[in-house]
Amino acid sequence: MLETTSLKLIENLTKKHKLTEYQIDLLSKLLKFWRKGSIVYPGMLKSKLHISIKETYDILEYMLKEGFLERNFEIYCSKCNKFKGKIVRSLTDIPEDCCCEFCNHEIDPVTDTIAIYRVIKDE
Ligand SMILES: [Zn+2]
Repeated sequence: MLETTSLKLIENLTKKHKLTEYQIDLLSKLLKFWRKGSIVYPGMLKSKLHISIKETYDILEYMLKEGFLERNFEIYCSKCNKFKGKIVRSLTDIPEDCCCEFCNHEIDPVTDTIAIYRVIKDE
């Protein structure tokens, strides 16, 4: 992401969230590596910035509203706790007979997916 863009984003975010200097610094370093098509994992952002999961989603949803991210879903088997390595744009994109290749558990779009974000604008 361009530095001018990330600076503006961070400036707006710090107005709404109490981010420390350290978190602002980390966030700007992270944003530098965001490219169109990059996948952003909420859990990763949360642990890097040491913020709550609610704050993490607030930040991500803000970036979504600004047109930088879109919400995608990754299939994650809740029975054997493994990622299938498959990302879909919408829960309806998951075939009805989709099964976990590791434990054969039938994938339920509601319980066996996690929301992730995809960068759609990096300028
Ligand atoms: Zn499984």
